[in-house]
Amino acid sequence: MSMRFDVISVIPQVFDAYMGASILGRASQRGIYEFYAHDLRDWTHDRHRTVDDAPFGGGQGMLMKPEPIFEAVESVSAMDGRKPHVVFFSPCGSRFDQGVARRLAAKERVLMVCGRYEGMDERVYALADETISLGDYVLTGGELAAMAVTDAVVRLLPGALGDEMSAQDESFSEGLLEYAQYTRPAEFRGMSVPDVLLSGDHGAVARWRRESALRRTVQWRPDLLDGLPLNEKERAMVDGLLANESTGLEGV
Ligand code: SAH
Repeated sequence: MSMRFDVISVIPQVFDAYMGASILGRASQRGIYEFYAHDLRDWTHDRHRTVDDAPFGGGQGMLMKPEPIFEAVESVSAMDGRKPHVVFFSPCGSRFDQGVARRLAAKERVLMVCGRYEGMDERVYALADETISLGDYVLTGGELAAMAVTDAVVRLLPGALGDEMSAQDESFSEGLLEYAQYTRPAEFRGMSVPDVLLSGDHGAVARWRRESALRRTVQWRPDLLDGLPLNEKERAMVDGLLANESTGLEGV
């Protein structure tokens, strides 16, 4: 059965273009996942379809009220026999990364709730199985976070990329950044593709790629190297690169 995503938002129309295009669009047409965007205002009961109110204790801005969110999460949950894993979005959540994407890709159903305004009444988090932050910055709403999470999770689902291999040796799949890649032309504006990639020697290409991944990780994301299983040669190379860091790296 295909994985099901539900999202609750006050602007559900923003999901259509992105989720319907390219790889995500094709994957949903092929039945790899289902995606439903629900309008939070459908669970309000006043004429103005109010979803926000002023914060107790004063302060600027408006907060999302608890009643429509509780009703929406309960009724969307009941739309399918599978109980959803419920995700809220907030800058106060734990940081989203490829590991979280992998964990979510193993769920049958994920229900995401997007905040707006100054955030939500704290009591709504009683509904959450987890709260996710996209990163250390503040967005105007959770919709981009919901799209980022759905996108990262869908491309891990079997068959989503068409080519089964492509999700396997990407950035973070082995704890490293991805190696440098090139396509035609072999010579472009004075910049040439490394000879080894044109050599047809698969062993040499594999070694070059591993080395390129290590170099790039040392240069750009040395934090990823902590606790990574490296063989002796790789460890020596990383130590050498780290020692030379101040001289700058070329041809990563
Ligand atoms: N006042 C809140 C921010 C509210 S931003 C605070 O200081 O923490 C409004 C909504 O946008 C949030 O409820 C959340 O759903 C979403 N949002 C903003 N930044 C986000 C981020 N980095 N990751 C995930 N969601 C975010």
